[in-house]
Amino acid sequence: MPRKTRDNGAQRPSHNAPMCEVEGCQQEGQYKAPRSREQLDEYRWLCIDHIREHNKQWDYFADMKPEEIEAFMHDAVTGHRPTWTREERMRFRPDKLHDALYEFMHDRKRPAPQPAIPAKVRRSLALLEMEFPYTQDQLKSCYRKLAKRYHPDTNQGNKAVEETFKNITAAYKYLDEQLKKK
Ligand SMILES: [Zn+2]
Repeated sequence: MPRKTRDNGAQRPSHNAPMCEVEGCQQEGQYKAPRSREQLDEYRWLCIDHIREHNKQWDYFADMKPEEIEAFMHDAVTGHRPTWTREERMRFRPDKLHDALYEFMHDRKRPAPQPAIPAKVRRSLALLEMEFPYTQDQLKSCYRKLAKRYHPDTNQGNKAVEETFKNITAAYKYLDEQLKKK
């Protein structure tokens, strides 16, 4: 995330107040706001406009009954449709609901949760000097590059290289299968 630029002298705060932590906001953050209801003792600094906004949202939920909050969140997820069909309920994704609530409370998109990558996939990717996620093209080109480097024909008699070649080939085949499974 890029840091807020402060190169414009005219906008520089006169004293040492931190900048408002809302992305893109150039005002002084003079007001403390709890980060979330789960982290009441952790603060972020906001300007007067954003603290007002924050308080509005905070109060909005504070006055709600649990079933009203739930209804609000359902609306946020389904695009403000008051009733759900059976099909919609089947499609309901709790993570989407968390996204909507996070965005509402934090003024920014919820960071994408990191998918759990199976250990074997991670090991295989590491062998091929790759990272998750990967495409078939990336897989092929990384494998080709390494296969050339470790090919037994060009490293005759070197057992370690031979072993590496076997391992990267197995890793390539495994990762290729994983892609085809989907
Ligand atoms: Zn602000």
